[in-house]
Amino acid sequence: MLWKLQTLPKIRIFCWRIGHDILPTCEKISTIGRDFNSDCPRCGRDKETLIHVLKDCPKARACWCMGV
Ligand SMILES: [Zn+2]
Repeated sequence: MLWKLQTLPKIRIFCWRIGHDILPTCEKISTIGRDFNSDCPRCGRDKETLIHVLKDCPKARACWCMGV
């Protein structure tokens, strides 16, 4: 169903990555690279997890609000 959406390919891929929990967040990257800082580069308040990017990060939330 996702691939039939009438939207930009990058939006479809973004949604697919969210669904498979493979968005390249800092937390994910830090599990691969040892010395990688997993804190959010935008607000620095918390680790950059999928939930933080989509819901908790004030700067990301501001972007979501502008898009609506
Ligand atoms: Zn943040």
